[in-house]
Amino acid sequence: MPEKEGCVLRLHGVRDGVTKLGAGVRYAVWTQGCKKRCRGCMTPESRDMNGGYEMSASELARNIISSGREGVTISGGEPFLQARALASAIELVKKERDIGVIIYTGYTLEELCATGDSYVLRLLEICDLLVDGEYIDELNDGMNLRGSSNQRALALTERYAQSAAEYGTKKAEFELFWGAEKISIVGIPPKDMLERFKNIEF
Ligand code: SF4
Repeated sequence: MPEKEGCVLRLHGVRDGVTKLGAGVRYAVWTQGCKKRCRGCMTPESRDMNGGYEMSASELARNIISSGREGVTISGGEPFLQARALASAIELVKKERDIGVIIYTGYTLEELCATGDSYVLRLLEICDLLVDGEYIDELNDGMNLRGSSNQRALALTERYAQSAAEYGTKKAEFELFWGAEKISIVGIPPKDMLERFKNIEF
């Protein structure tokens, strides 16, 4: 797979086999770096522009292809700060397989379009579902697949149009992955989740 110059991503993490970030079983990608400072951000460690680790767009594409999943969900950090490399990775995947793309952003669709940035527009063109808008802690109503009620699930193609209508209609869901050194929370958990965990008895 040819490497394009400059197509290196800074990532916060990746995980195969997630079920709480959109339709079906998916490959998840969290980019590193965000310029927003939403109060109550669930992953403040993903905001450091110099944190995380690097991965080429072609390596990410290979990993997504080899997962065999129907879809990929991209979150952050702020994915659109790395629109060029992300678009490159997704285009490489799409050359090999028909894959559905869900992407989260702290910007609104209107703000993204207003940038006029060709890479931002290119990334929008190849995504199927956009969950947009910054996280507003006061508007966190504990519902599924989005952090606060101002955020919209916008179907950019027909692929996930039906599931877009289900965002924010059920109680928030998440899953836990046990690793060797830590437990990872994947999905969008309810606001008081950590408080509730303190009350678990074994
Ligand atoms: S946009 Fe997302 S990652 Fe960035 S500060 Fe807000 S909640 Fe955190």
